[in-house]
Amino acid sequence: PEPQVPRDPSKKTLVILGTGWGSVSLLKKLDTENYNVIVISPRNYFLFTPLLPSCTTGLIEHRSIMEPIRSICRSKKGPVTFYEAEASSIDTNRKIVKIRDNSDIRGDTTETEVPYDMLVVGVGAENATFGIPGVRENSCFLKEIGDAQQIRKKIMDCVETAAFKDQPAAEIDRLLHMVVVGGGPTGVEFAGELRDFFEDDIRKLIPDIADRFRVTLIEALPNVLPSFSKQLIEYTESTFKEEEISIHTKTMVKKVTDKAVEAEVSKPDGTKERIVFPYGLLVWATGNTLRPLVRDLMASIPAQKDSRRGLAVNEYLVVQGARDIWAVGDCAVAGYAPTAQVASQEGNFLARLFNNMAKTAELEERIQTLSSSLNLKPGVNSADVSREIEDAERKLQRIKDIKPFHYSHQGSLAYIGSEKAVADVSWFNGNVASGGTMTYYFWRSAYLSMVFSTRNRLLVLNDWLKSKLFGRDISRE
Ligand code: FAD
Ligand code: NAD
Repeated sequence: PEPQVPRDPSKKTLVILGTGWGSVSLLKKLDTENYNVIVISPRNYFLFTPLLPSCTTGLIEHRSIMEPIRSICRSKKGPVTFYEAEASSIDTNRKIVKIRDNSDIRGDTTETEVPYDMLVVGVGAENATFGIPGVRENSCFLKEIGDAQQIRKKIMDCVETAAFKDQPAAEIDRLLHMVVVGGGPTGVEFAGELRDFFEDDIRKLIPDIADRFRVTLIEALPNVLPSFSKQLIEYTESTFKEEEISIHTKTMVKKVTDKAVEAEVSKPDGTKERIVFPYGLLVWATGNTLRPLVRDLMASIPAQKDSRRGLAVNEYLVVQGARDIWAVGDCAVAGYAPTAQVASQEGNFLARLFNNMAKTAELEERIQTLSSSLNLKPGVNSADVSREIEDAERKLQRIKDIKPFHYSHQGSLAYIGSEKAVADVSWFNGNVASGGTMTYYFWRSAYLSMVFSTRNRLLVLNDWLKSKLFGRDISRE
């Protein structure tokens, strides 16, 4: 069959896997006229993850933080082909990606191959469960739009079931107990949003059961938000105390059943105690693990055998031990935390690198043409041609001198509920740690300025305003 966009045989085919922070940042800055660009992802949109916790309570509607990849592709100068599919394997010898349509509606072709000259892997990561029994079957994750929608529905289901006629007191307590496992930024932000939802809306609408509502955050380490400064950890913990969110640190979840979480607490005297937390909703936020595609790719490259947390890349984000493959974001190990900030800077860097590589190829070709014209017709304008060659060589040298990737940390921000946020921000070469309501306004304006498009920005503003005026929509759908 004919490809969607005719392939230009004079250009290299650049295949980009994923439509997340890394891949979309690359696409945004890439001069697509230089390559045959093919984007492959099971998700035909970009998702602004920093505001995902707000979607779990309906403060923000999910479509406000999604941007269709096809409109991003259409805005590019050169054509970009998009296939909604999952890359199932990468054959590095044949330089081919196998792709599979896993969506609900499938045609006669569901699997095929896409050849590449250059490949960028930006497939992100999966939710880690550490093989703890019962986690996959019983908990909600918080990574994708579908997860947030599921949580939103489940919160209201728990509330309505707790309000059911003749519900026993112990069952009301279980149903209204929301347990969050993982005290990283995802767990903390979700716990804060959940508490706001109850205080702002549910308490007013269903006052008779509101006092029974509880949020518990379980963390294996001695404190929450381990990547933030000590002062902000303390601030978060004391704010959670005021918000009546109970934090259980040094508590490691060992098993999950459909109605309870079983955990082990390390006590100061070194002994361990087992506790059981009955729950209505369980949200699991214990960080990342490798996707099968990445694990298989790593296993096929001998130089990756010592890497555990993702594809080891060099300072130009080239996958070590592979030819013509780069990696960005959560699936790559470049020595930085798995954050949107890192992924987007890596994507921007690759765009610059590829734009430069295309210019290099163009200049090299030009030098070759000029040199052969010089050899073919000696004497004819030779001084001019030689000058042009020198000029091109100088330009080429400048372009070839591209500096390695360098991450510039702008700071960390997290929402902690009741209109408070914490921020560790780099400011004039120093670090400023702040927490409170002013930081919350800073958090809101920073994220508002970062959302993908003007359309997204207006939608998010509208959602904030709507919730302020009318409260969140608690319909269970
Ligand atoms: P992703 O953005 O996850 O994108 C991966 C893409 O690959 C997706 O499009 C996916 O559909 C696609 N894909 C998956 N499998 C395949 C396959 N087999 N073939 C092809 N494509 C595939 N970071 C911050 O810096 N600040 C924040 O405030 C912040 N808040 C967050 C809040 C939440 C709730 C979460 C979950 C994360 C947050 N992060 C934040 C972290 C940030 O979202 C990630 O670090 C970032 O998304 C990583 O970008 P990525 O491109 O590597 O992966
Ligand atoms: P994380 O890896 O940052 O935190 C997971 C936490 O779960 C850890 O503190 C770990 O000790 C704990 N844990 C693991 N197993 C456990 C168990 N069995 N029982 C109890 N606790 C357990 O994960 P995250 O919060 O999902 O964040 C992932 C990445 O995304 C991080 O790099 C983070 O910085 C980034 N992120 C940033 C923001 C933000 O900046 N606002 C928000 C969300 C995510």
